[in-house]
Order: sequence, then C-alpha cells, then structure tokens
Amino acid sequence: MSEANSVKIVTSAANATIKLVRALDDKKHRRESGLYVAEGLRTALTAEEQGVYPETLIFSAELKDHPKLKEYLGRCLKRGIECIEAGRQAMEKIARRDNPQGVIGIYRIGWHKLEDLAPKPQSCLIALQMIRDPGNLGTIMRTADAVGAEGIVLIDECCDPFSIEAVRASMGSIFAVKLARARFADFDAWRRKQGAMLVGTSLRASEDYRKVDYKDPVCLLMGNEQAGLPAEYEDACDARVRIPMRGSADSLNVAVATAIVLYEINRKSL
Ligand code: SAM
Repeated sequence: MSEANSVKIVTSAANATIKLVRALDDKKHRRESGLYVAEGLRTALTAEEQGVYPETLIFSAELKDHPKLKEYLGRCLKRGIECIEAGRQAMEKIARRDNPQGVIGIYRIGWHKLEDLAPKPQSCLIALQMIRDPGNLGTIMRTADAVGAEGIVLIDECCDPFSIEAVRASMGSIFAVKLARARFADFDAWRRKQGAMLVGTSLRASEDYRKVDYKDPVCLLMGNEQAGLPAEYEDACDARVRIPMRGSADSLNVAVATAIVLYEINRKSL
C-alpha cells in the first residue's frame, strides 16, 4: 500500500487535523474551510449509504479491531481518504464530554441551489424561516428524510445545519436531505414558477391542517421559534393552517409541528 493508502497514527493533541476538528466547532471556521464534523461510526455508515465519504476519518486506537470499522476503513483507504488512528491524548482533545465517540468524520459542506430542489410528484419541500435551535433543525432534517421530502430551504438568518448539534440531531439525515438558502422573495417567486402550493403554519390561522386539500407539489413553511412567521410571509401562502391544541401550551415545538403537518401532507402516499 502506498503512503496515501495507509492509516496515519497520531498521538499528539497538537496535530493539525486534531486541532482542525476542534476549530470546526466554530461557525466562522466551518464557513471559511467549507468543512464540518459528524461523529460516530453509524453516522459514517449512513453517509456511505448516500455515497458520501469524509475528507478525513479519525478513529480511536481503542476501536481499531472493531469489525465494522475495519471494513469501512478499508473502503475509505481504497478511495484515498485520509485515515487517522488517534491515540488517547489526541482523542481526548476531540471527544466531547457529553457524547464521546470513537469515530469522527470531517465532511465537505454541500449547499444546493433552489433549482436542485424542484419538487417532484409525491414529494414535498420544507421552508424554514429563521429557525434558531440546531436541535430543532436537525430533528426537522430527520423528519424530512423520513417522509422523502425533496429538501429544506432556509429562509432569513437560520442556525447552521452543519453545527455539531444539528448534525447530531439529524441522525445521519443531513447526508440525505438537500439544503438550500434563499431570501423569501426569491423562494416565493421560484415556487410559484414550479406551480407549488405554499402552505404556511400559524397560530393565527383558522383552517385546521387536516381539512386542507393539499395539491402536489407542496411547500410547507414553518416559522421562527419565538415570533412565528412574519405577516407578509403568511399573506403569500396559498393556505394557512393551524394544528388544534387543547391544553394551556400556547404553541407546539416547531419540529413537532413540522412532523405533524408533513405526515398529513403525505398521508395518502406514505
Ligand atoms: N409565539 C410564536 C407565534 O406566535 O407564532 C410561536 C412560534 S411556534 C413555537 C414556531 C412555529 O411552529 C410556528 O411559526 C409554526 O410554524 C409552528 N407551530 C407551532 N405550533 C403550531 C400550531 N398549533 N399550529 C400551526 N403551527 C404551529
């Protein structure tokens, strides 16, 4: 095997790649490098199912005999991917106290254009306006994947889908769901051109989400956790729906609300 096709052993926490993993906690660094981190062997294998491989794979020396890791490592090496076996000191530098993982992949960030997300029959699109919680965003990516949505469009200043918290909450779905960013006006003009029905969700809406005749293709628009959708975005929608509530809660969590309406939109086809 050539040098490029063999595992590199790193023991020092001062190694440049080890330091890069920590630096990628920072959004600015992710934006500048175009890279992000996803943890865990299961996540790496989910990515592989989507044909996505890391630029660099780092694994704990303690796991080197793990059968599934060994097989995966073989496939990565064959592709010329940089593979690093990290000693305890190096691994301690990058392992998170809240969720230590022995496998870490550094992946390339991939944004899509709106045109790549053209809704197909029996698929829908999700647009999120100013979603701020990475856990919510990751959970929505996972649900979008589960219903076979075409993708997610992030509108206004949303949190970063490539942060470790969002990636973790997506449980690997970040590799399956197409992500795009757009200004609302551009998104709205584009979806009109596609003949897509825009469905806004709002506590101010009077229509029950179960009573609407969803016409394929549908774009589901969800609002910010604190403020909800701006009035002018609601006005642009073809339908505005509400999920009825009984108790004292003034709203549902946005990821929960997304899942409820998405499953109703897809009720006949799933
Ligand atoms: N105080 C905000 C408001 O007045 O809209 C609450 C926002 S809520 C936590 C975040 C988003 O979840 C909303 O913009 C909407 O998209 C969705 N949502 C939550 N509960 C909903 C409900 N019962 N019906 C429709 N949408 C809901």
